[in-house]
Amino acid sequence: MTDAYHCRSCRATDGEVVLDLGRQPASDYFPPAGDPGPDPAYPLQMWLCAACGLAQLLVDPTVPEEPRATEPAALVEQAADAVGRVAAAGWLPAGRRAAEYGSPHGGSWLDLLARRGLTVAGDGAEADVVLDCFGLMHSPDQAAALAERVARVAPGGVLLLQYHSLGTIVRLGQWNSLRHGHYAYYSTAALGRMLASAGFVAREAWRFDLYGGTILLAATRAEDAGGGAGPDASVTELEAEEAALGVEDPARVRTLQDSAASRADELHRWLADQRAAGARVFGYGAASRAVALLCRAGVDRSLLPAVADASPAKQGRRMPATDIPVVAPGELVAARPDAVALFLPDLLPELRATLPEVEAAGARWVDVEALGATPAA
Ligand SMILES: [Zn+2]
Repeated sequence: MTDAYHCRSCRATDGEVVLDLGRQPASDYFPPAGDPGPDPAYPLQMWLCAACGLAQLLVDPTVPEEPRATEPAALVEQAADAVGRVAAAGWLPAGRRAAEYGSPHGGSWLDLLARRGLTVAGDGAEADVVLDCFGLMHSPDQAAALAERVARVAPGGVLLLQYHSLGTIVRLGQWNSLRHGHYAYYSTAALGRMLASAGFVAREAWRFDLYGGTILLAATRAEDAGGGAGPDASVTELEAEEAALGVEDPARVRTLQDSAASRADELHRWLADQRAAGARVFGYGAASRAVALLCRAGVDRSLLPAVADASPAKQGRRMPATDIPVVAPGELVAARPDAVALFLPDLLPELRATLPEVEAAGARWVDVEALGATPAA
């Protein structure tokens, strides 16, 4: 017997594992290229709370490493887009104080807010605008992390929460969004319940294409919601769409398990077909999503000789649980592959601009997440 697991938000024990990826290497662990392994691996499972609907990382025995990734242009552009839209809706008046809970992956709003005349609140100080940009998911104790954020919201202030939605993950079969260090995967309804338990209510929602579907939610104290008017249509429509997708139905969320199997098979088959046809394929994007996919697909350097990544801290290392080295983008260009398997589709516009040599040399970018959806080339 082991102690019962308690929900990271509501502390309930009733729930179930909806995605089990077995033992996976830690997502930030990139061993030196000469390290023969085997690499340590840890259980990686998503659990869906039956009480509050929060999808969450069941256990995380890993120790986070320093972030090694470079900040993607797509994240920077989305931040500018988001600030513009939230400001247009009247939530960012000049002169207000702002505080940010950021993500280790980048995308800070603070410079953008300063340019709009907001001031940055001191460490731990109250603020009129408290922003969380993919930060909350990094906290093991979701209830405590949300309590800390709402406590900093000044009377009449707003809490802005941005997250990659569980609806997107389920709709697009993004099983490899599950990773160590990311403790929560929010549906708008589950986040609404978390907010309600803190005395807050969602007021307005905005949608972005980042990661296939990212949501930004504005929430205020219930008493600031104007006579109990509550959420506007942008929130209720989102909740209805996500409910129709089945984000709180364990059987529906469990289809991520099928996606894991089929996507891994598709990648392995495509790489094997390419090799059989004499085509050389390199990878791009040594991110956690690529780690999980390559690990599950059992891909080694005989199928994928290298994965390029712009982060100097990853170059000279290898992908965990396989022998595939991480190289600089210049090495990918010099190798003149026939195709580049892109593990982070959000990077495509940026890569086309910064590495035009790839396509100029006749290679094509291939979105690995779309392999099963497009006719084999
Ligand atoms: Zn719960």
